[in-house]
Amino acid sequence: MNKKLLVKVLSVVLALVLGMTVLWACGGEEPQVDEKPELIMATNAAFPPYEFKEGDSFAGIDVDIATLIAEKLGMELVIKDVEFGSIVGGVQSGKFDMGMAGMTVTEERLESVNFSESYATGIQVVIVAEDSTITSLDDMLADGSMKYGVQQDTTGDIYASDTVENGGYGEENVIRYKTGAEAVQALKAGKLDAVIIDNEPAKSFVAANEGLRILEAEWAVEDYAICIAKENTELLEKVNGALAELEAEGKIQEIIDTYIK
Ligand code: GLN
Repeated sequence: MNKKLLVKVLSVVLALVLGMTVLWACGGEEPQVDEKPELIMATNAAFPPYEFKEGDSFAGIDVDIATLIAEKLGMELVIKDVEFGSIVGGVQSGKFDMGMAGMTVTEERLESVNFSESYATGIQVVIVAEDSTITSLDDMLADGSMKYGVQQDTTGDIYASDTVENGGYGEENVIRYKTGAEAVQALKAGKLDAVIIDNEPAKSFVAANEGLRILEAEWAVEDYAICIAKENTELLEKVNGALAELEAEGKIQEIIDTYIK
């Protein structure tokens, strides 16, 4: 082969290799045009069976319902696992599109955010040690002789921390934990007399920990809904539309039945 021909062959080979590299590099990127808009949901994934971690991914009633809502809206669900108490503020400021965390609709929260139609009922219950002297709500004293554990910023916290006149136990008798699981561990360790928490997580925690029981009584009955920024009425309408469809299709009940037997 003469020199000229060799140079030609080599440059063709080089061009081919370069071309293929460029093609390969472009192929690796997601096409921008077809990308679905994100639906960013804030939750606190320590609240089984509504939201919890399963390895690296999220599972639970809220996660499954949100997945179907996003599907109906043609959006890509993105879940952010944050502290429960930062969900409302984050939704209000636009950091998250919606908050879904077994979240109870309360007058106070309604001052900061809007709520969708309710998709589930929550009941605040009381967990005590199996051998506890507390057998009814009347046995829960607010005279300083008992300590109550709650997950901070939840309705259990808000109501229990209220004054005795308002039906609470007084802030000084309430101990706040980051998660319900931590409150339950403190109860097991004998640091608390009772934990006030939503009924379904209560059942999960009691099933996973020996020596605890749940009082028969209902401490408070509440509605769970999705919170959305007040100005984002467009998303609120869309989410309510999707929820109504899912309800009519029997999907909400189907999901709840998968997790709550
Ligand atoms: N339902 C309670 C509330 O809204 C607790 C929710 C939670 O801990 N994820 O305050």
